[in-house]
Amino acid sequence: MVGIGYDMHRLKTGESLILGGISIESDFGTIAHSDGDVLLHSIIDAILGAAGLGDIGEHFPDTDEKYKGISSVELTEAVISLVNKENYKLINIDAVIILEKPKLLPYKKAIRENIANLCGLPVKRVNIKATTNEKLSYIGRSEGIVVHSVCQIADA
Ligand code: MG
Repeated sequence: MVGIGYDMHRLKTGESLILGGISIESDFGTIAHSDGDVLLHSIIDAILGAAGLGDIGEHFPDTDEKYKGISSVELTEAVISLVNKENYKLINIDAVIILEKPKLLPYKKAIRENIANLCGLPVKRVNIKATTNEKLSYIGRSEGIVVHSVCQIADA
């Protein structure tokens, strides 16, 4: 089974930018109810989609004070155990981060390793791509960051 995930967050000067549980040095970061890890949010939705388990908002409502500022690493762990309980295992994850700046190349290896570790996958089964939006639209103006992802799972 496969699932897709999408997430977008607005960017603001002075906020922190966390992608895949890794802190990125940046002049601006995501505005969010949680820690704003747009990459993990997208991947969580891809995993939930593959397992037929709805979406991140159903499991962790952003209206619930309980999830204010929560680490997305914790949310990912919760989703992985949910999927394991349903007797599924992850096969692979692929994601594309669309962000004008900063360049993510120096962080990609750490992000991959962290996500692989979180999801119990070999590093080669987690692929992280990054691209700019060629300075066009809200992404090009660094007003937002978008992540698309897919996840494949199988019966355990
Ligand atoms: Mg989000």
